Amino acid sequence: MIIYKRINDLKEHFYRHKDRSASIGFVPTMGALHKGHISLIEASRKNADVTVCSIFINPSQFNNQADFTKYPVTIENDILQLETAGCDILLLPSLSEIYPDGYEAPHYELGYLENILEGAFRPGHFQGVCQVVDRLLQIVEPQHLFLGEKDYQQCMVITRLAEILRLKVKIQIIPTLREKDGLAMSSRNMRLTPAERKSAAFIYATLKKAAEQIDQKDTLTLQGDAKQNLESHGFKVDYFEIADAATLLPSKPADAKKVIVVAAWLNDVRLIDNLVTG
Ligand code: AMP
Repeated sequence: MIIYKRINDLKEHFYRHKDRSASIGFVPTMGALHKGHISLIEASRKNADVTVCSIFINPSQFNNQADFTKYPVTIENDILQLETAGCDILLLPSLSEIYPDGYEAPHYELGYLENILEGAFRPGHFQGVCQVVDRLLQIVEPQHLFLGEKDYQQCMVITRLAEILRLKVKIQIIPTLREKDGLAMSSRNMRLTPAERKSAAFIYATLKKAAEQIDQKDTLTLQGDAKQNLESHGFKVDYFEIADAATLLPSKPADAKKVIVVAAWLNDVRLIDNLVTG
């Protein structure tokens, strides 16, 4: 695997190895890699000729300073995992490479998507996500972009971004990889104490329970029960909502597919997850 810290060096690499028929698959990450990230690398290797991964902890998408400063960094281990997975190129840019002097953040018209759920609880988060993804897509110019379904709303936002920018990139959404007890793999799981880690599995159990009862109980009852259950297990719930999987707006009986989305805190660690049903 070749590691580039500078955009110009990556661009020069592409120029030197210019092969018009070779396709680039891109996996943007914030590092502290786990098997979920690696499943995106594997999907890219299957679908594209060259796989590029980026590791960049993007300050502009953190609305909470403590979450940013405590974000786990495990770069040596990340490099090992990427090499083992057969990633071709790792882009490891500094802040000034991504946001050089004079960079002016555009405003992206994301509509209601940036104000609901994650957007409501993390003001500015999705504008920050779009800033970094826009920059990275300009730099890497991939044909394929691999995203994890774990960040369901982020997948919708980036799909919208690609429409706004009229990009031809093909977005592929990869299913959530879970630990044996159902907890969605996440870099933030590293910050859980052993006791919190045990409790964290209750998020997925609650999602599954709501999915099983989705045709028997009304949405408000299901959401209320789930929140109460999570809170009795020590969580502080930001939201637990059943939504139309196509729009993320509150679900209606006629929706073809629904998604149950949740964000909850265990002390100072915020976890998100979702489950698509129907
Ligand atoms: P992050 O480093 O958290 O920004 O995640 C980078 C990419 O990996 C995003 O597209 C995530 O949705 C995806 N991802 C994170 N966790 C998982 C998981 N458990 N399974 C599959 N993809 C994931």
